[in-house]
Amino acid sequence: MSSAHPQTELARYDRLYIGGAWVAPEDGGMLESIDPSTGRPWALVAYGGPRDIDRAVAAAREALNGPWGKMPGHERAALMRRFADVYAKHAADLAVLETTDSGRSIREARADIGGHSNGYHWWASLADKASGRTIPFDSSVHAFTTRVPVGVVGAITPWNVPLMAAAWKLGPALAAGCTVVLKPAEQTPVTSLELGKLFEEAGFPPGVINIVPGYGQGGAGERLVTHPDVDKIAFTGEGATAKAILRAGTTADTLKKFTFELGGKSPHIIFADADIEQAVNAATNSAWTLCGQSCALGSRVIVQRSVYDRVVADFVERAKKVRVGKPLDPATHMGPQAHHEQLAKTLAYIEHGRNDGAELVAGGNRLCGGVYGDGYFVEPTVFAKAHNKMRIAQEEIFGPVAALIPFDDEEEAIAIANDTPYGLTAGLWTGDTGRAHRVSSRIDAGMVWVNTYRFIRWSTPYGGFKGSGWGRENGIEALDSYLQTKTTVISTTGRFPDAYAQ
Ligand code: NAD
Repeated sequence: MSSAHPQTELARYDRLYIGGAWVAPEDGGMLESIDPSTGRPWALVAYGGPRDIDRAVAAAREALNGPWGKMPGHERAALMRRFADVYAKHAADLAVLETTDSGRSIREARADIGGHSNGYHWWASLADKASGRTIPFDSSVHAFTTRVPVGVVGAITPWNVPLMAAAWKLGPALAAGCTVVLKPAEQTPVTSLELGKLFEEAGFPPGVINIVPGYGQGGAGERLVTHPDVDKIAFTGEGATAKAILRAGTTADTLKKFTFELGGKSPHIIFADADIEQAVNAATNSAWTLCGQSCALGSRVIVQRSVYDRVVADFVERAKKVRVGKPLDPATHMGPQAHHEQLAKTLAYIEHGRNDGAELVAGGNRLCGGVYGDGYFVEPTVFAKAHNKMRIAQEEIFGPVAALIPFDDEEEAIAIANDTPYGLTAGLWTGDTGRAHRVSSRIDAGMVWVNTYRFIRWSTPYGGFKGSGWGRENGIEALDSYLQTKTTVISTTGRFPDAYAQ
């Protein structure tokens, strides 16, 4: 399907994966995927339009009504395990491609993508366990529930972590027995298309997984969310997009189910009684990981005043140690921003931080020339003397920018942590067990980490309070969101009285 000659020509991914076949777009076209470390195109990629989505949805429906829908759970599990093994075999190559397409460092990509196969195995282990219950009533009926797949799923993923976002949707969807149309983001579509080859190699029936890169509004994304034969949309992306989807005229007409994994502006609280060195290890990493392009970023670092100056100094020292460089170089800690618009957004927020009165103590610049060339590189950036009302503390930047905010006591720390429209994740560092329980219980976030950060696994439910989303990915909760309950009542007598006899 693809060929790559990086020196001379672009890699080509000129087919969509629909109904188990590699097909040319009908009303889409070809887009250039940019290598953000050079600012130049590196791949030509097919994208689908509305008619391609229609074809993919029809294929997914056919598979659901056909072999996949009839397959017992244990056989689906066996196929999924085969896929997990195929995935493990190709994980190193996938990491190189995702690094090239998105700019995340190869060391991060290897660690992340290397673990997905375990996740797919875990989901496989749940494929034959969706059981219902019997409902006691009286001897005239036998009432029971079964858990059945919601049907055809549209999976819409963002550009920052395409394979991870896909795994979080495909794993539970397949375990539940659904079929899927996967639409990756237009900026980083390559590795999602690669998944098609892996599903083929694992021997999946045609149409169970269909992969159609494409644009959002007016394109493949919009058609997927408004398509009358799609039963559920599993969306990861920005809150503004989620709202636009819900407002879009024909979305409401189809009454489909939605899960939304949206943005965050996570508080990372450091109490003076914490092991400060460990806290700084976690807080610096969680502020700059994925070049700052993570929904779980601990970008609001809320620090008790008695240790504030020390933590600021430690942040400044760590910023100097971050090796920003070519993402495929194994020595690189941090690559470029994934695309030009994100670069511009990050730089604009650094300006806001300056203008709003925060003190820039590290970074703050785009890196150009030399090894950086025209790539979208930004220094790891630290603002001290930040206030929670500043834009850099209230809005999701999605760049490597930490805002360090001082506090005096526990109540103030909790108030600052919760003063945000988001509620995805939070971290807190303390040596006091009672405080760990008190504070974690009062933070409005879907996931709270104590004396650790960013521990996210396929088995731990993940998702947002407030503006960070609807529903959960990962964990049994995610499986539930791809299943629906059917109640069956069987009469034990077969008798039904004639209501009109008298
Ligand atoms: P985005 O909302 O711009 O795009 C996400 C996806 O939606 C893309 O595939 C895009 O093509 C599609 N899309 C855009 N408009 C659409 C429309 N009108 N109809 C249907 N589809 C449409 O988000 P992004 O910039 O790609 O990703 C970054 C965002 O994702 C950040 O806010 C980040 O926090 C969030 N994110 C959240 C999680 C999580 O698990 N909570 C994980 C990763 C990223």
